[in-house]
Amino acid sequence: MRLANRVALVTGGGSGIGQAISLLFAQEGAKVVAVDRYLDRAEATAAQIRAAGGEALALKADVASQAEVNAAAEQALATYGKVDILVNNAGISLGSDILTIDEETWDLNIAVVLKGVYLCSKAILPNMLANRRGAIINISSVNGLTGIGEEAYSAAKAAVINLTQNLAVRYGPYQVRANVICPGTIETPIWGERVAKDPQVFAKLAKWYPLRRVGQPEDVARAALFLASDDASWITGATLNVDGGLMAGTGNFADDLSAE
Ligand code: NAP
Repeated sequence: MRLANRVALVTGGGSGIGQAISLLFAQEGAKVVAVDRYLDRAEATAAQIRAAGGEALALKADVASQAEVNAAAEQALATYGKVDILVNNAGISLGSDILTIDEETWDLNIAVVLKGVYLCSKAILPNMLANRRGAIINISSVNGLTGIGEEAYSAAKAAVINLTQNLAVRYGPYQVRANVICPGTIETPIWGERVAKDPQVFAKLAKWYPLRRVGQPEDVARAALFLASDDASWITGATLNVDGGLMAGTGNFADDLSAE
C-alpha cells in the first residue's frame, strides 16, 4: 500500500479524473476526502470507496468560493486530523476565443481553474507546514503548454503550472512538494457536449497522439499516485505530461519536413 496512513483531499472527486484518483488512492490505503460542487457526486465516489473496504468522506464545496473551501478544509481536518495530499483537480472549460467569450465566462474559467487552486492550497497548506509533510498535485492540461484553443481555460491552466513551481520553491524547505500534471485528451464527462455533437470525437483525436489513443482517467490517476507517494520524495516543481506523447512533437510537420 503506497499511501497507507495518508489523508488525501481531491477536488472534483465526484467525476472523471478526480474520481479515478480518489478510488486509486483509497485502494493504496489513503483516507480520501472527495470534494465536489454537488454533494451527491462526491457521495457516490465515497460510497464506492467504502464498498471496497476503504475510508472516505464526501464534502460539497465550490472551489471558487473561499467560504465553502475553508468550511470543507475545516471539516476534513476535524474528521481526519490532517491532510497529507491535496489534489487540485476540479475544473471547467467554457467558451472559446477572446472575441467571442464574454467577461462573465472568462472570469468563471479563471475563478474555478486558477483561483480554486489558490483557495484550496491556502486552506490546506498551514496543516501541511505544521506537519512538515505534504504533497500537492495540480491538474493542469496540455492546453496550458501550447496554443490549442479554449483561451480562458488554457491561460488559467498555464498559470497553474507557474503557481505550482512557486509552491514548490516556497514550501520545499517545509517538506511540502508540489507537482503538476498536464493531461492530454482524457475520456471523461467534461467532454459530454462535444461527444453529443460528434460521437466520433475521441476516435478523430486519437490520430494526433503518438500512442494513437486518447487517455483514460486511470492513466492520470496512476501518475498522480506516483507523485503523491514516497517514490517521488525528491520530485517537486515538476511538470509531468500525461498525454500519449502529444507534446513531444508535431508528427504532420515532421512528415512534411522529411518528405522527398
Ligand atoms: P469532469 O469529469 O467534468 O470532472 C470535474 C469535476 O469537477 C466535476 O464533478 C465537476 O462538476 C467538478 N467541478 C467543476 N467546477 C467545480 C467547482 N467550482 N467546485 C468544485 N467542483 C467543481 O472533468 P475531468 O475531465 O475529470 O477534469 C478533471 C480535471 O482535469 C480538470 O481540471 C480538467 O481541466 C483537467 N483536464 C481534463 C482533460 C480531459 O480531456 N478530460 C484534459 C486535460 C485536463 P460539474 O460536472 O458539475 O462541472
